[in-house]
Amino acid sequence: MDLREHIRTIPDFPKPGIQFYDISTLLAHPRAWRACVRRLADVVDSFEPDVLVGIESRGFLTAAPLALDLGLGFVMVRKQGKLPGRCITHTYDLEYGTDTIEIQADGIKPGQRVVILDDLLATGGTLAATAALCAKVGGDVQGAVCIIELPDLKGRDKLSVPFSSLIQFEGG
Ligand code: AMP
Repeated sequence: MDLREHIRTIPDFPKPGIQFYDISTLLAHPRAWRACVRRLADVVDSFEPDVLVGIESRGFLTAAPLALDLGLGFVMVRKQGKLPGRCITHTYDLEYGTDTIEIQADGIKPGQRVVILDDLLATGGTLAATAALCAKVGGDVQGAVCIIELPDLKGRDKLSVPFSSLIQFEGG
């Protein structure tokens, strides 16, 4: 099963010059999605996590079925203002301006082994910020895993935790 064939590329979305890697077509194909989740499960399992963290919003789709499969808890990291109850925030720099993400204060117990999931690693800013937030609430971040990586953008260099991806698109 070549998962690359199930990822649709859409030019100039959300703005001119960006090649968007759309996992909708992967999610819509049950056999390909099953294969993808199995491959992710093998990688994630090797980190021996206690809990999986998914980044809004396609990271939720990636992490939630894995957590169920591996018998682990699932915790959301969202843009500021969307989670109820007491939250811990982390603000990070974008190309222009800043962004703030947050997690519920009791989402991760101190010392829990955490693996972070998202659909795609581009510049690495989102994943690096999520790893920093998880560490801030006491999580022991073991690694991060994405379905897709754009190696030309060197996102890995921003990460201080081990990183794995299933598919790499060069020149993207
Ligand atoms: P970054 O922080 O630059 O690594 O961006 C990663 C986040 O933005 C992930 O949550 C991705 O879903 C999304 N993203 C960035 N670039 C793309 C792209 N070319 N195609 C699809 N999603 C992208």
